[in-house]
Amino acid sequence: MKYYSTNNKNLIVNFETAVMQGLAEDGGLFMPVSFPKIDNEFIQSIEKYSFQEIAFRIAKLFIDDEISESNLYDIISNSITFPAPLVQIGKNLYVLELFHGPTLAFKDFGARFMAKTMGHFVAKRNIQLNILVATSGDTGSAVAHGFYDTPGINVFILYPKGKVSFIQEKQLTTLDKNIIALEIDGTFDDCQRLVKTAFVDKDLNKKLNLTSANSINISRLLPQAFYYFEAYKQIVNKNNHSIFSVPSGNLGNLTAGLIAKKIGLPISKFIGAVNSNKVFAEFLHTGIFNPRSSIQTLSNAMDVGNPSNLIRIREIYSDILKDMQNDIYSNSYDDNQTRKGIKEVYENYKYIIDPHGSVGYLALKDYIKFNQQFNGVILETAHPAKFKDVIEEELNIEIEIPERLAVCLNKEKRTVELSSKYEDLREFLMGRD
Ligand SMILES: *Cc1c(COP(=O)(O)O)cnc(C)c1O
Repeated sequence: MKYYSTNNKNLIVNFETAVMQGLAEDGGLFMPVSFPKIDNEFIQSIEKYSFQEIAFRIAKLFIDDEISESNLYDIISNSITFPAPLVQIGKNLYVLELFHGPTLAFKDFGARFMAKTMGHFVAKRNIQLNILVATSGDTGSAVAHGFYDTPGINVFILYPKGKVSFIQEKQLTTLDKNIIALEIDGTFDDCQRLVKTAFVDKDLNKKLNLTSANSINISRLLPQAFYYFEAYKQIVNKNNHSIFSVPSGNLGNLTAGLIAKKIGLPISKFIGAVNSNKVFAEFLHTGIFNPRSSIQTLSNAMDVGNPSNLIRIREIYSDILKDMQNDIYSNSYDDNQTRKGIKEVYENYKYIIDPHGSVGYLALKDYIKFNQQFNGVILETAHPAKFKDVIEEELNIEIEIPERLAVCLNKEKRTVELSSKYEDLREFLMGRD
């Protein structure tokens, strides 16, 4: 499979280059030049296959022979190490739990597959790679856990001292080996500035072979298509139309779902559920894209004012608004509604949903009113324990912390403290071999 840049259809690279570059040289995002169809027979008999076998089939379509089948199988079995169960909570109503990975959020799927894929190419090229990531919380920990113990790759995570939650900090700072947490005496913007400065520092790059583990990397996007197939597999009444509601921010998750549909997964409708950051809903209603600064909400991983994957969705639909409207519905919900949604799901279905999932629930409810002919699937993108305070407040219950999170809460934090001056970061990185 070849990949083109969304800024220039003639800038074409192979899968390896797309993965190792992340972003195209002209600043565009990589997209596959075509969407091969998956066998209808495979869809008909999907219940026979394991999650890993399904993932392998889909990945193969987009990678061809660039990675041998045995290596690809290793990558998949080392990244899809936890399930994506579809839990039925009501008549025709399901929750797809995407939070069973190490950091309790769906980003683990993308981050792990990207890490194993980059690890493969690094070994093949016999190089040493150093990844720099600035994080305000969750993305950093998914990346850190994904790359943990990958030979040939070190990860430096820059996070603002005192400005991430206790749980997030523990998740970022309790890994050892090739993961180094840099506690920056500054803000998230300082961390981003430091990373950007490092990337354009020629001497430093020459010495360290720096790269970003960018959220728009194609190897982070593709694996997100896997679990839509895995979800479909678990739907009991496949004769009904299936509608998937995706709590959305940067639109990577939704884009992956649309790709799954494009290659043959029978999903009738997608819902791009957004919080008060409603640029996408506006675009879908009016065709006008008006990016702006983000607003802080309870579903904070969706606080995105300029969703980078929108360009990919427009590419899939050749920028024809009517076709996008046919396949996608979008609506926005504020924090009050989100709180009510959490309560309603608990009262009506005895299910504890997190604020992101609640936004997904509200949009799905508005769209279908849960009547007979539909299977409604809400993607639950984070474990409710990550939002313990809000949920306990709304529901008057106590939330149990899952074992894999509890384990890291008891480990000791290990960081390197640095100021927000670039010279300090540079000196630290230069001193490493
Ligand atoms: C990142 C994230 C989202 C938003 O996903 P996008 O692919 O950026 O649209 C939703 N929920 C959670 C918990 C997330 O971490």
